[in-house]
Amino acid sequence: MNRLCLITNDVETTSIVNHRLSDETGRYVLEQGMPRLLDMYERYGVRTTFFFTGHIAKLYPQVVRMAHEKGHEVGSHGLTHEVCKAFDVMPRDEQLSHLKQSKQILEDITGTPVVSFRAPAARVPKDFPSVLHEAGFLIDSSVSSQRLDMFFSFGSLNKLHWLGAPRRAYRTAADNIFHHGDDGIFEVPISAFGFPYIGTFMRIAPLLNRLTRRLLYAETLMTGRQFVFLTHPNEFIDEPRIGGPIERRAKNPLSYLLGDVIRHALKVHNLGAKALPLMEHELQFFKKHDFRFLTCHEMLEQTTQ
Ligand SMILES: [Zn+2]
Repeated sequence: MNRLCLITNDVETTSIVNHRLSDETGRYVLEQGMPRLLDMYERYGVRTTFFFTGHIAKLYPQVVRMAHEKGHEVGSHGLTHEVCKAFDVMPRDEQLSHLKQSKQILEDITGTPVVSFRAPAARVPKDFPSVLHEAGFLIDSSVSSQRLDMFFSFGSLNKLHWLGAPRRAYRTAADNIFHHGDDGIFEVPISAFGFPYIGTFMRIAPLLNRLTRRLLYAETLMTGRQFVFLTHPNEFIDEPRIGGPIERRAKNPLSYLLGDVIRHALKVHNLGAKALPLMEHELQFFKKHDFRFLTCHEMLEQTTQ
C-alpha cells in the first residue's frame, strides 16, 4: 500500500494574533516562522510544498529563497490575501492577472517554473481550471473534500461544493474544479474528515485533531488516499498582540460573530513556540507509520507515470 503524505505551507503576512494583514508579520515569518519550520523539516528529512503570496515574496524575497534552497517546492498563494480580492469574487481577467503576476514574481526569485497553486482562504470559483491552465499552472490544492466547518470561514457558499469533491488527488473537469474529469487541472485536495486536517485545528483542538488524523489513517489503509496537511509559518511566530477591537471583515452580524469574533478567539490558541511540539508530533506519526513525504509536483509526476 502506498502511504503518501504531502505537507503544505501557506506563506503570507496574515497576523493571526492581531487578525489583520501586516507587513510586520512578514518579518516574523522570515525571522521565526520559516526558520523554525525549515529546521524541523530538515531534521525529519521532509520535503514539502510552500505556497507564497506575491505580496510576501516581493516584500521578503529571502523567504522564498530559503525554502527553495532547502529543496522544497515553491508554489503560488495568489498575489494578495485581501478578502475583497478572493478568487471567487474577482472577475476572470483579474484572476488571470493575479495568477500570472504571482507566478512571475516567484519564478524571478527562484529561476524555476512554478506549477502549483493554492488560493488564499481556499476560495476558488467552480470554473477555475481553465484560468489556472491559461496562467500556466498544472496543479491546484484549494479544494478540501468533505470539510464541514466552512461556515466559520469566508466564501462559505462556494465551499458547499467541497461536500461532493473526490477525496484522492484527481484530474478535474475543465469546467468544474470540484468534479472529477479528463481535461482539467490536477487537484490535490486538503485532507478533512468532517474536521479539517490543518495547523489551525491541530493547535486549537489537539485531541480532536488526533482523532481526525486516526480516522484519515484508517481511510488511507483502505483506499490509499494521500494525506495533505496544511499549515502556515505564521502559526509558528511569537508576535505581540496590539490592543483594540477585532477588525470586522464580515458583512452581516452572524458572519461577524462566527467568522471574526469567535474564530479569532479560537485561532490564537497554541500559537508560536507552543505550536512546534504539536507539529513535530504530526511528523512523528507519519515517520512511525512509514509514510513517504512528497511535494505537489512530485505527486503529479508519480500519478502520470
Ligand atoms: Zn492563506
